[in-house]
Amino acid sequence: MLPFIRPILAALTLSAAPLVSAAPVNAPSPYAALAATEARVAAIGFRLTTANAAWCPMQQPQFGWIWGDPRLYDADRRAEALAAYDADDAGHAFLAAVAPGSPAATAGLRVGDRVAAIDLAPVPDGQGDHPFARITAIEAMLAARPADMPIALHVDAGRLVRLSPLPGCASDFRVEPNDKPGAVADGRLVLVNQGLADFAADDAELAAAIAHEIAHNILRHRARLDAAGVDRGLGKQFGRSARLFRQTEVEADRLSVWLLAGAGYDPGAAARFWSKFGQRKGRPLFQAGTHPGWRDRVAALEAEAATIAAAVAAGQPLQPPLVDAPPPLE
Ligand SMILES: [Zn+2]
Repeated sequence: MLPFIRPILAALTLSAAPLVSAAPVNAPSPYAALAATEARVAAIGFRLTTANAAWCPMQQPQFGWIWGDPRLYDADRRAEALAAYDADDAGHAFLAAVAPGSPAATAGLRVGDRVAAIDLAPVPDGQGDHPFARITAIEAMLAARPADMPIALHVDAGRLVRLSPLPGCASDFRVEPNDKPGAVADGRLVLVNQGLADFAADDAELAAAIAHEIAHNILRHRARLDAAGVDRGLGKQFGRSARLFRQTEVEADRLSVWLLAGAGYDPGAAARFWSKFGQRKGRPLFQAGTHPGWRDRVAALEAEAATIAAAVAAGQPLQPPLVDAPPPLE
């Protein structure tokens, strides 16, 4: 965990603790790197969710933004953090990223815009005092609206901005300032570690990793694994729990390749990314229970890309597997 923002996962478990850190003099601001990654993730997430909306049983409005909040940063580094977004500490939630070509961008919204009210109501404040409470409340409120319902934001000094979202697959996106190449999907959110974005060779590879996480959400893996009573503790690596986790990983891999194709990314980027990921230095040695071996993953991803290429060559419409009726987890 890079020590410059309160950790998201800790915040989700209500145990966020303020972190103290001291940056070397004249070092580039870590917040600028974080903001740049948020911009990439917002753009890729917007493209994947909106281009593939027709395949998603659960949709939500997609505006093309990622939210920020001054409360995410410890007081002693808050000004430096907000400068990376051209925002200031007036206390309002602000836009931390705006995807190019998205409804937010087209409406003239920019990174750093402070939002005081949504449809004349104050921005929801969220329950509790953990740093992400307000952003979680905003995301939940927006996700519950009809997927194409127009919205009006009161931005900065009384500016009123109206925009209409695009229907998209139901997921919101955040970037965690963690240098480990990882990501996680909790059913609603896709959390991307900064280390994962840095590990990906290009946006298509990063899109492959994000598409895998979106696929977990589309296929409701978290809820279905919980309903199946899997062991998320030590027993995760063994027996039935391990087998069911492995099934969800195989399903997410398969669907991810179609999500790439549906959004105009190179479907071959999935095999490229997971091949490098499987061979990376410092990878955990004991994931054998819950994840297929990386060679098997790459072979399956290549087979899926070949199926898509054959459908395209034959002029057939793309029809992804699993989305209509994923096999039961049992
Ligand atoms: Zn996964």
